Amino acid sequence: MRCPRCSTEVTDALPTCAGCGFGIADLDDLLGEPPPCRGRVTDDAKLLSPDGLVRIEERARAFEGRTGTELRVVTRETTKPVKPGEYAFWLFNRWDVGDIGGQDVNRGLLVLVAKAERSIWCEVGHGLEGLVTDAAAGQVLEEHAVPFLARGEVDDGVFQAVDVLSQVVEGGRERPPLWRRILGGAR
Ligand SMILES: [Zn+2]
Repeated sequence: MRCPRCSTEVTDALPTCAGCGFGIADLDDLLGEPPPCRGRVTDDAKLLSPDGLVRIEERARAFEGRTGTELRVVTRETTKPVKPGEYAFWLFNRWDVGDIGGQDVNRGLLVLVAKAERSIWCEVGHGLEGLVTDAAAGQVLEEHAVPFLARGEVDDGVFQAVDVLSQVVEGGRERPPLWRRILGGAR
C-alpha cells in the first residue's frame, strides 16, 4: 500500500515509510485502541439498514470465496484527529486485513465510510495491488459509490463500492471502460 502522507510504497505489517518516516505507531498515539472488528461489515456509525448490511455482507462473502482474499467494510462517525485515508491505512493494519492463515500477505481490501468527513475510502492491500491500484480503487468509489452517497443512499453506495471493487479483482479488470462494460447490462 501507499503511505497516506507522501504516497511512497509501504509494504510490511508494521510499516514505517521510507519517504517521510510516517508509521503505524504515530497513528496508535493519536487513535489508541482500534475498534473491534465485527465481521465483514462493522457499522459503527449505524449508517446501514439491516437489509443493506446483509446484502453487503453477502457480496463480500462471495468475493472472498471466489478470490481467497478478505474484504472488510467499516463505518465511523469520524476519523478525527486524522484524515480518512490515514485512518483506513491504520485500521487495515491493526485488523490484519488480508493476512490469510496468519501470513502477512495483505490480500485484502478495507472500505471505510466516515460520516462527519462525508468520505468513502478504500485501502488496497499490497497483495492485491497487481489487480487493483489505489488510483483505480479511488476511481471506482468516485464513479460508483459517491453518486449514491451524495443522495444519502448509503446502503446502495456501499454496496456498489463493494460490488464493483469485487468485480475488478475477480475479473482482473483494471481499466474503467471494462468496469463500465461489466455494469452496462445491469444499469
Ligand atoms: Zn511517507
